Amino acid sequence: MTTTRFAPSPTGRLHVGNIRTALHNWMLARQTGGTFILRIDDTDAERSREDYVEAIRADLTWLGLTWDREERQSARLDRYQAAFDQLRSAGRIYPCYETAQELDVKRKIQLSRGLPPIYDRAALKLTDAERAAKEAEGTQAHWRFLLDHDEPITWQDGIRGIQKFDAAQLSDPVIRRADRSWLYMMPSAIDDIDMGITQVLRGEDHVSNTAVQIQIFTALFAADYAASDSAAKTIPAFAHEALLVGREGKLSKRLGSLSCDAFRERGIEPEAIIALLARLGTSQPVEPVADRAALTASFDLATFGRAPAKFDEEDLERLNAGIVHQLSFEAVASRLPAGMDAAGWHAVRPNLAHIGEAAEWWRLVTGPIEQPAFSQEDKAFLAEAGAKLVWGDDPWAALTSALKESTGRKGRTLFLPLRQALTGMDHGPDMGELLPLIGEAEARARLARATT
Ligand code: GLU
Repeated sequence: MTTTRFAPSPTGRLHVGNIRTALHNWMLARQTGGTFILRIDDTDAERSREDYVEAIRADLTWLGLTWDREERQSARLDRYQAAFDQLRSAGRIYPCYETAQELDVKRKIQLSRGLPPIYDRAALKLTDAERAAKEAEGTQAHWRFLLDHDEPITWQDGIRGIQKFDAAQLSDPVIRRADRSWLYMMPSAIDDIDMGITQVLRGEDHVSNTAVQIQIFTALFAADYAASDSAAKTIPAFAHEALLVGREGKLSKRLGSLSCDAFRERGIEPEAIIALLARLGTSQPVEPVADRAALTASFDLATFGRAPAKFDEEDLERLNAGIVHQLSFEAVASRLPAGMDAAGWHAVRPNLAHIGEAAEWWRLVTGPIEQPAFSQEDKAFLAEAGAKLVWGDDPWAALTSALKESTGRKGRTLFLPLRQALTGMDHGPDMGELLPLIGEAEARARLARATT
């Protein structure tokens, strides 16, 4: 049974990058009837905001990415403390006293000698007396996880294939600050165990975190970290996706305009976002697939490439139009202009890039419309049209074939003046569908007005 999680930090709105992560985790879970957990990573009390938590829920709901369970890291601090105590007794967590400036100097010296800036574990060599002296000076310890340099780190990544890391090439990560607050690294691993996560799918910016977290998992299992029934007994499977880039490179600068609420305001349908993000960066074609079950069924990590996936807003617009053209009246009724019925929706739908544009086209039906000035010749033609108009099953087909015969006009010269007189526009929805909606009396009035 697959259990996945989407773990946003509530420090901003969801943007295209984390919507993609959420979607893929949702699809992995839904594919197998598994569980999708929304985990709010709010250990950073200063930057986390409740309105962002609410916005994340609203955005996921709008996208139709329903979750089976919600968890909050801020409600789980006792679990982190318990694991911390166990790992500390096991000698896998140690106190450090360097200031940020001291660490910075160390790094600069290493770099100037051409060495990698790996933490030198000086704090590990402190004697009890030296530690006591630091504490007596009022320096609060921050805490690092002790990587096991002899334990090779390797995993079969669902997208990147076999991954190998040498722990000696990594710094022991700081897992807890001097103010006792938690950094991301350890709580995430503890949650993944407690929540029985079987598959972690996230961006490739987390690859080196995975290397460290694998050792945290192993250390927790070795310390017999209290496992509930639902807890994972094994390290989850990992997969890391190539990041999204924009047409001109990094997306990060434009993330504000690529947020869920910005998309919604611009009239982008959730299904367009889903269709794009389900397949972007994979070998599967990006198409306006409105059938989410089909997209979910075809979702496959093996189709993901290693190259950064290009996010292009024009693709999104194109997919949006393709999706809008498929939406049923029932699906959109509440967002249509007053009075617009199924026939109206059907008539204007092919002309829309966004549902919001339905109102503009609907005005051609309800009026008033503004006609262009017609030549004498066209006026005579439109007068003839008024005379030939018969209101039957398909008044447009009847009218145009009668006029073709009586005037010899065809193509543009036949259709354009009629469209202009009847709608005020020289392009637009299919006249065969539009004319019955305009209605006989109004159509006659418009044709008559055009001849004056
Ligand atoms: N809160 C982390 C982030 O947003 C979660 C990473 C993870 O999926 O483990 O990057």
